[in-house]
Amino acid sequence: MTLHIETPLINSRALSLRTGRTVLLKLEGLQPGGSFKLRGVGFACEEHKHRGARRFVTASGGNAGYAVAYAGRELGIPVTVVVPQTTSERARALIRGEEAEVIVHGASFGESNDHALSILRDGDAYLHAFDDPLLWEGHATMVEEIARQTERPDLLVCSVGGGGLLAGVIEGLRRVGWSDIPVLAVETAGANSYDQALKAGEPVTLPKIQSVATSLGANKVTARIVTLAKEHQIRNCLVTDAEAIQGSVTLLEEHRLLSEPACGASVAALARVPEYFPDAQRIVVIACGGVGTTSQQLLEWSDFYRLECDPLTASHSDEVNSLESQQS
Ligand SMILES: *Cc1c(COP(=O)(O)O)cnc(C)c1O
Repeated sequence: MTLHIETPLINSRALSLRTGRTVLLKLEGLQPGGSFKLRGVGFACEEHKHRGARRFVTASGGNAGYAVAYAGRELGIPVTVVVPQTTSERARALIRGEEAEVIVHGASFGESNDHALSILRDGDAYLHAFDDPLLWEGHATMVEEIARQTERPDLLVCSVGGGGLLAGVIEGLRRVGWSDIPVLAVETAGANSYDQALKAGEPVTLPKIQSVATSLGANKVTARIVTLAKEHQIRNCLVTDAEAIQGSVTLLEEHRLLSEPACGASVAALARVPEYFPDAQRIVVIACGGVGTTSQQLLEWSDFYRLECDPLTASHSDEVNSLESQQS
């Protein structure tokens, strides 16, 4: 038994018709905890329990914190989640609803993370949101499932925040003998820490994050995915916030799934496939989910951006073109 569940892989008729390719969606938003995070977090928490941990401590007001809270309750281990003041009331309530202790500390993730590290005592296990090989091992199960659910795809598409998901996806591709399948790694333009890292050849710290896709807002990616870019065919791309929101709207309207723009970004990136992977016919998009966005918020955003254009047919903006990395 694992804490995560096996999620459906569905053939999206709507996205297939729009792209003229076969688009499969791995529905990770259906995980308990609302995102793929539970795969890695669940695996890591079970491992830490095994090693004798008596408390789980993490610093994330987002899906990672929520997944740790869920895992702790399921495993009967107390959880403390340190969140910055910017974390919404709703997110705090969700985490408390899993019986975790929420400590509000600091103005930024960095400050709450420092605090989380400072309160660690004997018997505590600290859970990172993305930079931990245990997480990547857990995330990799997603690709093992995909290999059981469908024949070999030509391309995988996933979003990148700190890079835990991408590292796990590549680990999974290796496990199932699909090391030669390329990955399109997607960020929003205002959360382009991977793009910058690839350009610099090492992780760099972004001075600030400016994107509605808050789950992609890691200032600095794990060095692991910079290394992996040398070993695996990874093409990174950027989408605008408006495109990411449109991606989430598409998931809602076509598949009745609510998701964060962090997830919608990967759907929006299908528009880049003709340019980067013209021969890819069979495409798996990791619909990574996320509990941070309400339907109301999604409506307000689409109103704000006056979304009417379809990102799958619209040509992308000059802003993104100029930001995008030219490495291949
Ligand atoms: C965490 C998260 C991401 C980014 O994952 P990383 O491992 O940080 O790259 C993307 N989407 C959602 C919904 C997330 O919760």
